[in-house]
Amino acid sequence: MLHLKGIGASAGIAVAKAYRLEEPVLTVDKKAIENTASEVTRFDEAIIKSKNELEKIKEHAMRELGKDKADIFAAHLLVMSDPELLNPVKDKIQNEKVNAEFALKETADMFVSMFESMDNEYMKERAADIRDVTKRVVAHLLGVEIPNPSMISEEVIIIAEDLTPSDTAQLNRQFVKGFTTNIGGRTSHSAIMARSMEIPAVVGTKEATSQIKNGTLVIVDGLDGEVIIDPSDEMLAAYVSKKEKYDLQKAEWAKLVNEPTVTKDNQHVELAANIGTPKDVKGVLENGGEAVGLYRTEFLYMGRDQLPTEDEQFEAYKSVLENMKGKPVVVRTLDIGGDKELPYLHLPKEMNPFLGFRAIRLCLEEQDIFRTQLRALLRASIYGNLRIMFPMIATVDEFRQAKTILLEEKQMLEAKNIEISGNIEIGMMVEIPSTAVMADAFAKEVDFFSIGTNDLVQYTMAADRMNERVSYLYQPYNPAILRLVTLVIEAAHKEGKWVGMCGEMAGDPIAIPLLLGLGLDEFSMSATSILPARSQIKNLSKEEAASFKEKVIGMSTTEEVVSFVKETFNV
Ligand code: PEP
Ligand code: MG
Repeated sequence: MLHLKGIGASAGIAVAKAYRLEEPVLTVDKKAIENTASEVTRFDEAIIKSKNELEKIKEHAMRELGKDKADIFAAHLLVMSDPELLNPVKDKIQNEKVNAEFALKETADMFVSMFESMDNEYMKERAADIRDVTKRVVAHLLGVEIPNPSMISEEVIIIAEDLTPSDTAQLNRQFVKGFTTNIGGRTSHSAIMARSMEIPAVVGTKEATSQIKNGTLVIVDGLDGEVIIDPSDEMLAAYVSKKEKYDLQKAEWAKLVNEPTVTKDNQHVELAANIGTPKDVKGVLENGGEAVGLYRTEFLYMGRDQLPTEDEQFEAYKSVLENMKGKPVVVRTLDIGGDKELPYLHLPKEMNPFLGFRAIRLCLEEQDIFRTQLRALLRASIYGNLRIMFPMIATVDEFRQAKTILLEEKQMLEAKNIEISGNIEIGMMVEIPSTAVMADAFAKEVDFFSIGTNDLVQYTMAADRMNERVSYLYQPYNPAILRLVTLVIEAAHKEGKWVGMCGEMAGDPIAIPLLLGLGLDEFSMSATSILPARSQIKNLSKEEAASFKEKVIGMSTTEEVVSFVKETFNV
């Protein structure tokens, strides 16, 4: 039995066998071959095995993930049947008397570099397909297994160095009971998605992949950030009872699902949910969400090989708005960059992607992408209560530009007699310190703010939200953050505007009394945090929390703030 300590990224307890999700090591050596005919047969057999495997993956993707994802594998199957690729490999085996994996690798590399050097998106995508296909066939030739997470068909805990948001999106909730990674923080997007998928997760364990073998029994305790490998019977029993206690607690919270969120002194605050896909709306309603406070639309653009069309986007936004039945839905325009990549945009690699060409910066430059999204949103606006916000605004000028483009698209649609809602609020994220400091200037121009503490904390403390080695500096309760939040709320209220928070801090039991006291109007969080937050807020007095405002923002350290909250509010 072994214990690993990490960061509890998604609450709950899971027990299952380990499934290692790792890039296989595929080292291809050149070998001289005598019997070239049997080497060609070996190559043909590897192709057949790979095709059979891909057929199964394609069918599974079609059933579970939709046509978009299935199309990726259909393209791979086409490459695998292409004589323009297969014949040169066979010729090479026969003429140069080399092994099949070497012949395939050399031929594929030649095509990949040829296609990649072309100034043509379509050919660049084909290069990526050839690379993927080659990997699969080489793995078969070498007898190495390639993990296929979308094909898992028994209960497992995923063990990985890291999970990208698109890996996470492909996890099958039925079988993936939990995951643990070596790296990552509470606000990395895979952690955020695990919470919305209700999959217990522990990230940043540093050693998960070096300590856990495939098939070993593992406990993931997302409540306390612990991973237990090969637990003893006593340990297993202890966790079964911890899980039962947690389930009972959840049942208590569930009683609040249809209740309003009011404090002891009868003040209402709005508890909203953060979502990544239209499917998440179900979880929002089941958890008593009063609104969607953040729809991260970038997930619509991920895990596929081309941009979503205006109509595809329209359908997604319409579905969220309709299913929320008139409750507010804050849709954030595309926030790609940082840990959320879109390989098909072929953006150059950057030294500091979190400080780079991302989100609104990209949208203001690549206006076709931005305008398509805005049109889809405007057309969908009549199906519910839409609010639009722009991410990563750093200057007033950026907000003005984004708003101007939105209004231009609105005018153009109206000129075509397309019906658009007359009261779409237009707001922005406050996640860059410059914006918080200048909140008074922004407040005159926006309809609302939503504070994105996931980024605001990392930029204010200069501590990468993904890097567990500096996680000690990632301090949401640092008075520096509380002062910035105060600036934003005061500036907005002075102009009669409302302020939400959609960073993970909004659902954090230590932060909730502080934010209530600072006057936050809307708290937007992972759907699963809503009921615990409602239960906590019902026992708080807003007036009392507000009476500590000056004291708290005058404190010097995070530790002081945390112990004050724990003592005063019984957290
Ligand atoms: C934030 O930065 O707080 C936020 C909500 O956006 P994201 O986590 O998607 O960067
Ligand atoms: Mg952000």
